[in-house]
Amino acid sequence: AQPKVAFIGLGNMGGPMAANLVAAGVPVQAYDVVAEAMDTAQQNGVEVVADPLDAVAEADVVLTMLPSGEHVLAAYQHSPGLLAAAKPGATFLDCSTINISEAQEAAELAKQAGFQAADAPVSGGVVGAEAGTLAFMVGADDDVFGQLRPLLEIMGARVVHCGASGLGQAAKICNNMILAVSQIAVGEAFVLGEQLGLTHQALYDVASKASGQSWALTTNCPVPGPVPTSPANRDFAPGFAGALMAKDLGLATNALDEKGVDGQMGRLAAAIYSEFAEGEGATQDFSAIISTIRANSQS
Ligand code: NAD
Repeated sequence: AQPKVAFIGLGNMGGPMAANLVAAGVPVQAYDVVAEAMDTAQQNGVEVVADPLDAVAEADVVLTMLPSGEHVLAAYQHSPGLLAAAKPGATFLDCSTINISEAQEAAELAKQAGFQAADAPVSGGVVGAEAGTLAFMVGADDDVFGQLRPLLEIMGARVVHCGASGLGQAAKICNNMILAVSQIAVGEAFVLGEQLGLTHQALYDVASKASGQSWALTTNCPVPGPVPTSPANRDFAPGFAGALMAKDLGLATNALDEKGVDGQMGRLAAAIYSEFAEGEGATQDFSAIISTIRANSQS
């Protein structure tokens, strides 16, 4: 039988993820503090409940998809207090992107209360959430991972066990730190190429087949033309919005600080994207950082 799921947080990501579970025949009861989010989920076939604790009391898996670690820890402990309401044997599965230390704390709280726990942040954005093609990066004990895998495979196309609690979050922010640094590097190279008289296509043809190759170049190319599907060809409609990149880099910086790592490029990328996300970059694809680089370059 399919596990019963209590789904808490029906925003841009949680809404379509819950709908995909329902479409696959998983019994889901869902809740969001915002009425509109509940209405949309209901229109997509998801059963919603007025009191989240009712859903949790019946659930085998308590899945949270919330904005931040503060929200997750508060929801677990007191607002509304998911841990106190769950039934014995339940698994707490948090798919939000939060600090590694918060994910470990959330898992510890769940385990202390007698439950199983996993962190499983995602990449793939709203498009991936709707299509059921998310990538899940999972931090959990082996047996918990094994139990959750079929459920995650309904919502995702790739499910990777990264290690113990917190290590799903660790994998996600390490990946995104590479991505941010390389997207800035690609932007700088194209702007320098422009100033040197190099065409976008010539630089692309060389770097995409040479040692400068990266996802930031060959999938998310920040100039229109060489990669017709990249956000640069549609005025930088995301894609992956600058605000979300800035958020993830904030989590990366916290981890660099906590572990005392000499992450100069990561910290610089965090500062650059934090400023970018204060303006219109917040809602543009993060590859639009090339526009800032170009603007700052003109004398
Ligand atoms: P969102 O803000 O659209 O959705 C979060 C939802 O949680 C909102 O509807 C909000 O009302 C609800 N909420 C807050 N507190 C609640 C509570 N106590 N009980 C019930 N509901 C509550 O955010 P999103 O884009 O869906 O992102 C969710 C998480 O996924 C974030 O951690 C984000 O960083 C991560 N993420 C987002 C994307 C993306 O492209 N949007 C991609 C990867 C990861």
